[in-house]
Amino acid sequence: MISITEKMIKLVNKLHRNHVLSKEEFIDLMDHMDQDTLDFIRSLARNISQRYFGNKVYVRGLIEFTNYCSNDCYYCGIRKGNKEIIRYHLTKEEIMECCHRGYQLGFRTFVLQGGEDPSYTDEDLVSIIHSMKEAYSDCAITLSIGERTYDSYQRLKESGVDRFLLRHETANSVHYKKLHPRNLSLENRKRCLYDLKELGFQVGTGFMVGSPYQTTECLAEDLLFIHDLKPHMVGIGPFIPHHKTPFKDQKPGSYEQTLLLISILRIMLPNGLLPATTSLGTLVDGGREQGILSGANVVMPNLSPFNARKSYQLYDNKLHTGAEHAEGANGLRANMKAIGYDLSYERGDFKPMI
Ligand code: SAM
Repeated sequence: MISITEKMIKLVNKLHRNHVLSKEEFIDLMDHMDQDTLDFIRSLARNISQRYFGNKVYVRGLIEFTNYCSNDCYYCGIRKGNKEIIRYHLTKEEIMECCHRGYQLGFRTFVLQGGEDPSYTDEDLVSIIHSMKEAYSDCAITLSIGERTYDSYQRLKESGVDRFLLRHETANSVHYKKLHPRNLSLENRKRCLYDLKELGFQVGTGFMVGSPYQTTECLAEDLLFIHDLKPHMVGIGPFIPHHKTPFKDQKPGSYEQTLLLISILRIMLPNGLLPATTSLGTLVDGGREQGILSGANVVMPNLSPFNARKSYQLYDNKLHTGAEHAEGANGLRANMKAIGYDLSYERGDFKPMI
């Protein structure tokens, strides 16, 4: 017997109608979630994603091209302060090799992600992008390389980059300071996101669910920030501790809350591109499939060279063998098939609502 309260049904319907709630309403929705309401909201989100994307799950090839980072974010395993990882960065030739492998496997989006590595100048990146675009003109290129100046973003856009992922991490400035050292600011992070939008990138933002000191109020502010930014993509996944960070003893984010937030985001952004992330699959076996069943519609298998994968540990036990890597595409396809979805290798650009 379903026992959702009338109040919760009203809130979910209001979210569906307006694509947003007030801060108090978002807090109410998240704080009073029970299993029946979670099932209800997930099924609504799934229906919306089916309406816009059918049973397609877009595939992106992730190339983690550097684990050098000049930042010291307290949650992240590749932070500058972690002296115990083997650092690597890929040459242009190695990146092209990853693209070649990915292209053969059918990938038509390449995501270059890395720490903030000053050894790649704008010129270096532009040269990599030119080579990628020359060899694979039918592919989309996404960058996820952190905060840069407006001019730098502009040069990257002009060189042919299509999309940019930069999670805002938290929209609450007090919380932001608890996750980052003093040289980083929420203000600059947001400035980057608005610059990227102005320059015409397809922009992705996002946050970790259950990061240390996060409250439901912080999450409500994240949702309101996303409503304001109107990104094309939103990546969220549970926080998972890494043993060589100041947050090594913090507890991981909640699986159910991550699924709930994916569903809320799907209802807010019916045509948005929402990945079911590796961290969700790391937290719970089959987590990514449940992410898809909560309204997500993108997966990002790993195309990095095998040795690099082991060194790109943002959090402990990050999946790096199995269906999450590109060569495991058959396994991934079978997992998606089992829940009624098909992998789609098309570029899968953001399409505005008509
Ligand atoms: N350096 C780029 C940036 O700052 O946007 C991209 C790379 S960064 C490592 C990618 C994302 O990993 C971050 O935005 C963060 O949300 C996520 N991440 C880092 N540490 C994590 C952890 N311990 N648990 C879950 N996600 C984490």
